[in-house]
Amino acid sequence: MSIQDGPGDLGADEPARLRPWLPLLACPRCHGRLDDATAPLRCPRCRHALRIDRGVIVAVDLEHLSPHLRSQVAHFEHERAALDDRYVLLPWQRRYLERWLSAAGPAEAGAVALDCGTGTGYMAIELARRGARVIACDLTLASLVRLVRIAEAEGVADRVLAVCCTADELPVRDGVVASFIANGLLEHVPDQDAMLRACARVCAADATLMLTVPLRLGLVHPLLALVHWGRDRQIGHLRRYDLATLRRVLDGWTLLDARFTGHLGKALRVLANLSGLGRFDEEQLERIDDPHQHHERGASNVVSFWRRGRA
Ligand SMILES: [Zn+2]
Repeated sequence: MSIQDGPGDLGADEPARLRPWLPLLACPRCHGRLDDATAPLRCPRCRHALRIDRGVIVAVDLEHLSPHLRSQVAHFEHERAALDDRYVLLPWQRRYLERWLSAAGPAEAGAVALDCGTGTGYMAIELARRGARVIACDLTLASLVRLVRIAEAEGVADRVLAVCCTADELPVRDGVVASFIANGLLEHVPDQDAMLRACARVCAADATLMLTVPLRLGLVHPLLALVHWGRDRQIGHLRRYDLATLRRVLDGWTLLDARFTGHLGKALRVLANLSGLGRFDEEQLERIDDPHQHHERGASNVVSFWRRGRA
């Protein structure tokens, strides 16, 4: 890990901003405490250092990522480059938020949420707005730098901490997370078991988990299978799921609810909108497959909610 000095490091107000987060943070290598808000953050036990770049804690060596992760960063950096700093909650994003709030209940003030693979950060912003303290993790530094600016503009900078890391080496202390969110992440992660172990390590004994993944091609509508196959290659999906597989890999968690989204009627309209051939109302699109949301067969994704512990 290189330690960079200069404008990328802590600004004058950074130690004060970081201090309230230190009880939640840990060394990603040895999981030891990080007690001092200095630049860089240095693990007193193993001397591992985490640099801070434009308000983002960088807990991964971005110079030495695997080829898969490097191509993932390039893909999402490219996607992010098209976005400016305006914050808009899109209809599909509001739907994800509503689903989370109805399954997990309102965030208690100060409760710790970890949004793993935060992307544009809409979940982090919205949960912070509702009082949660959100650790927003992603591997794409450009997304996190943008999120820091948006969190400031939205007045929630003190409740959003942006962390650049991999999903299996979270610089977070054991058992501190009340809500873990991983939407569109598990299918991108090379070592799924390592990520789920990291999730279990940082989560409290009664934590809730939101997990959204794409369904296996044998379940999606045959007319959509080729589109999904191509999308997998374009975006770097390593695997797909069904609910039975999720139950197996989430041994130790109890399923609260599962919603299956992206049935044919909605998927075709979304594709039409994306290609410019259609102009379907996005709010209405979000309701169109509600009658089918308990049907796994024919859907594209599953949005699932879990509570830690066995029923
Ligand atoms: Zn350490």
